Amino acid sequence: MRCWLFFNRDLGPNVPEAHEVFRFQEAAKALDIELHVLKPSEFDLVVDSLGGWSAIYQGRELRKPDLIIPRTGSETSYFTLAVLRHFERQGVAIVNPPAAIEAVADKLHTLQVLAGAGLPIPKTILGKFPVDVGLVEREIGFPVVVKKLRGTRGAGVMLCENRAQFDDLANLLDGAAQGQDFLFQQYIKASHGRDVRVLVVDGKAVAAMERRSTDGGFKSNISLGGAAMPFAPPPAMAELAVKVARELQLDVAGIDILFDKTAYRICEANSSPGFQGLERACDVDVPELVFVAMSRKFGLPLRHSARW
Ligand code: ADP
Repeated sequence: MRCWLFFNRDLGPNVPEAHEVFRFQEAAKALDIELHVLKPSEFDLVVDSLGGWSAIYQGRELRKPDLIIPRTGSETSYFTLAVLRHFERQGVAIVNPPAAIEAVADKLHTLQVLAGAGLPIPKTILGKFPVDVGLVEREIGFPVVVKKLRGTRGAGVMLCENRAQFDDLANLLDGAAQGQDFLFQQYIKASHGRDVRVLVVDGKAVAAMERRSTDGGFKSNISLGGAAMPFAPPPAMAELAVKVARELQLDVAGIDILFDKTAYRICEANSSPGFQGLERACDVDVPELVFVAMSRKFGLPLRHSARW
């Protein structure tokens, strides 16, 4: 199998998500997969109706890969999506499909799809400016979670405890938030500082970890210091995660699930989930799982040497 992995940053020790790229390189080597790490921003995109293969990267023509693994997640720009669509149209398998990546980068679009499928989500309002504090109070009440529409690693997510705090925040947002979209969301108290990340690969829940905040805060992100422990999801939770991935058309997904009093609620879905914490907590090799599942799904020989 010849693969391209898309990553827009320069690789280095303290670069977010670089660890995952290194792990893909390591697994590719062990499995005899040819893997090239490429920056989507460095392609030149020429669209015409002549057909035929076209991939111009840093001024050179590249040969067609079997599979593209975008690792750009919720930070996928329009340019990267356009590049992905270009190769999708030319018949390259992509994990995940560009339309799915685009949908889940938008936290509200994700929830709209899931609510449409009857799956449990926290009640959520799309912010409008000036903020209608009364609407938020009536529909959701306090405390309320405030999040950026497109955010990751817990940045841009906060808890507003009461109406007075929310009034202050609404004032700030009205003045500063031009061009930014925000969500106001029901706070799932039973899940304070705690959630479960389920990794779904090709329709199966292959690993899960519980994440707990270690500072008393309500966010459990590992990148914010949260602790990770292996978690055996009850069948209902594993089934829910698999349904979420299916509804969002994600072949590989990190599904975050909150604990409500008697049920679960879906917090969000990630199209290129970080997995350093998951690999540390559970005994899994995530890139290997992805390579093997995608080779099976798309009928691609795993070993590069098997092509010849
Ligand atoms: P990010 O994509 O930046 O990680 P999330 O929406 O996943 O943002 O929120 C970060 C963390 O905040 C979650 O992992 C969870 O611990 C907590 N959280 C988010 N939304 C809620 C909510 N509605 N109720 C309770 N906790 C929440």
